[in-house]
Amino acid sequence: MSVQDITIPAVCNLIGGKAVVSSAKKHLPVTNPSTGEVLANVPMSGADELDAAVKAAAKAQRDWALVALKDRVQIMYRLKALIEEQVDSLAELVTQENGKLLAESRGELLRGIECIEFATSLPQIAAGQAMEVSRGVECKMLRYPLGVVAAITPFNFPFMVPLWMAPTAIACGNALILKPSEQTPLSAIKLGELLEQAGLPAGIYSVVNGGREIVEAMCDHPGIQAIGFVGSTKVAKLVYDRGSNTGKRVKALGGAKNHLVVMPDADPAMTAANVVASATGCAGQRCMAASVLIALEGTDHIVDDIKKKFQSMVAGRDIGSVISPEAKARITGYIERCEARGAKLAVDGRKAVDPAAPAGGNFVGPTLFDYAKPDHEVCCDEIFGPTLTVVRVKNLDEAISIENANPYGNAAAIYTSSGEVATYFAERASAGMIGINIGVPVPREPFPFGGWNASSYGEGDLTGHGSFDFWTKTKKITTKWHDRNRSNWMS
Ligand code: NAD
Repeated sequence: MSVQDITIPAVCNLIGGKAVVSSAKKHLPVTNPSTGEVLANVPMSGADELDAAVKAAAKAQRDWALVALKDRVQIMYRLKALIEEQVDSLAELVTQENGKLLAESRGELLRGIECIEFATSLPQIAAGQAMEVSRGVECKMLRYPLGVVAAITPFNFPFMVPLWMAPTAIACGNALILKPSEQTPLSAIKLGELLEQAGLPAGIYSVVNGGREIVEAMCDHPGIQAIGFVGSTKVAKLVYDRGSNTGKRVKALGGAKNHLVVMPDADPAMTAANVVASATGCAGQRCMAASVLIALEGTDHIVDDIKKKFQSMVAGRDIGSVISPEAKARITGYIERCEARGAKLAVDGRKAVDPAAPAGGNFVGPTLFDYAKPDHEVCCDEIFGPTLTVVRVKNLDEAISIENANPYGNAAAIYTSSGEVATYFAERASAGMIGINIGVPVPREPFPFGGWNASSYGEGDLTGHGSFDFWTKTKKITTKWHDRNRSNWMS
């Protein structure tokens, strides 16, 4: 849409603590993926609007940096309480703009709250290090905020991914500017309202809506010190390269193709239920979703059970909608092509839609591709829908070599009742997050979230313990109050 429909509300930007109507000429519709209803228009803001946000944020951050950490985190205690009080209505908002089931939206909020809890714990881990490095000479290390920092987020967790970054970055004394996905900008604005109610000073949390132009402007802006990016691998790499090139600290988490290995000694019922939940939860639109199931000889009974479970589910009832008609077309394209390219379409999700689901929704049911070869596109591409590709192999080493050969490295999992086999796999899988009998092995706070290879660019972590390092810089202070020991050659 290039001309804004004035009957539909425009999403504002948050700049300097104020809701600002963007001067953008171009707006895009924000659509409820389950109904097709247009909820709002989101502006494609320009670099000048980002610049205004950076200037306001820099001004506010100077005072915010002087607030003691213990006082800064009080805001996060209040934010947690506010989200808990309103969790049902916030879950509805997430479901409205993202299309996931209400229970999944609730889950997203609960996981996000854990990140706020981590931020409230910063005073417990922030106590600096001090040591007498030679007689009468003390060295101590303090942490300082970076200044103005940016976060760029994807559509699939519109509330949780901003909460991965905002509470810790802000508690560390930074001012954060968020560019949410243009497909799901409403949660980001709501988070701003809640932070304001929690007492956050104006300008410390800003939202600039837009697309590529704002992302590129964030990478180039000299007033932004660090960028946390979460999204596809293609854009993660672009942001990492461009942001690093201007001297910023950049951590960019990218896409995924997660492999789950099923051993013959796996608990059949637990494994089947767990794999199905991993592949179909959030309609498969999770960077932690099961994508390829590597089934060893002797696991036909488990694959059959997974197939039965897929056949019993329908979109619109058991799983939510995918984000857009384009996403649906991309996913159904894989279904259309799969047999011509040598895999078997064991369960066809195109037909598995609840008849009661709204006609305008982007629904695709669970889809199972079987007997795929490792070079088939359904084995290699991040489909980002409720699909699972089964590859049949003879032994564990063959399974590991398939996992290792994929360019991503977010998560990998194994189902087995043998500790020895699990350890063998965990040591050899080329992924940053490993599941043992767990299909969505998200390392909850304070363990940092993050993958390897093409699933992650840049050093450090956006969540958990590592995030405290990422959002701060250190200062080392060396002090001497007397000159009794004259042997100190560095005076
Ligand atoms: P996306 O990469 O399309 O968009 C992410 C952000 O980048 C958005 O804010 C978007 O506006 C912006 N963007 C898109 N194209 C751009 C371009 N050409 N130049 C500059 N900016 C651009 O991702 P998405 O479709 O919103 O989200 C799904 C992807 O995110 C999947 O690949 C998924 O695996 C990944 N993801 C990864 C993690 C993780 O932790 N590794 C978590 C969630 C999602």
